[in-house]
Amino acid sequence: MATLSLKNIKKIYDKNVVAVHDFNLEIADKEFIVLVGPSGCGKSTTLRMIAGLEDISDGDLFIGEKRMNDVEPKDRDIAMVFQNYALYPHMTVYENMAFALKLRKTPKAEIDKKVREAAEILDITTYLERKPKALSGGQRQRVAIGRAIVREPQVFLMDEPLSNLDAKLRNQMRAEIIKLRQRIDTTFIYVTHDQTEAMTLGDRIVIMKDGFIQQIGTPQQVFDHP
Ligand code: ADP
Ligand code: ADP
Repeated sequence: MATLSLKNIKKIYDKNVVAVHDFNLEIADKEFIVLVGPSGCGKSTTLRMIAGLEDISDGDLFIGEKRMNDVEPKDRDIAMVFQNYALYPHMTVYENMAFALKLRKTPKAEIDKKVREAAEILDITTYLERKPKALSGGQRQRVAIGRAIVREPQVFLMDEPLSNLDAKLRNQMRAEIIKLRQRIDTTFIYVTHDQTEAMTLGDRIVIMKDGFIQQIGTPQQVFDHP
């Protein structure tokens, strides 16, 4: 059964700015989808509509059988990681990762177990007591990913998560994301303008241009018929 259906999704910002035209996509359970295309083509807008951070102007978003258009972001089983990390600066790494679970009144022992498991997967166990400002860019991004995965979301959205990192770290984190993917049971939608990231991470790649889907295919299909 498809986890996520986007049916004729459209985003009109102002009268004349149509950021996304009739976006149609069925995403299978645990699939890794990459949205790729140049700046301004509508990738972020699409992701933000899925997260509920932006209203859908027209069309329907389903998770399973449930229509999500009017569901509050906090009630969607979705986590999102941004380019700029957006960690809480006054909290330690541990507190950052525990925060969402605490809000949901998860028992302390369970929070502790989940935070430590995620920290282990992301290799940040030794930084748990540090504040974000005492971490490097790569470490901060790991924490941001950790904070998202402790919630065990059904859908995991990533918006240019590696764009702020230097080339070496970007390659390393790309490999980490491939590993992460094997360890958590989640559907991924990953936004990037980087072709290499798209080709190495995606089960399927959605190429966008000027708010339209130009092509959808596996890396092999996209490589064979660019
Ligand atoms: P991408 O993520 O591919 O760079 P975006 O989804 O951010 O593209 O933007 C798609 C289009 O929508 C662009 O033309 C952008 O200028 C416009 N846009 C994005 N956010 C807003 C907004 N809040 N108000 C008006 N126009 C916007
Ligand atoms: P990178 O080369 O990856 O950008 P940095 O040069 O920022 O990393 O940091 C190198 C190491 O020093 C990292 O392990 C980081 O956690 C640690 N570090 C950086 N700043 C601080 C700090 N203010 N307090 C403690 N450790 C720090």
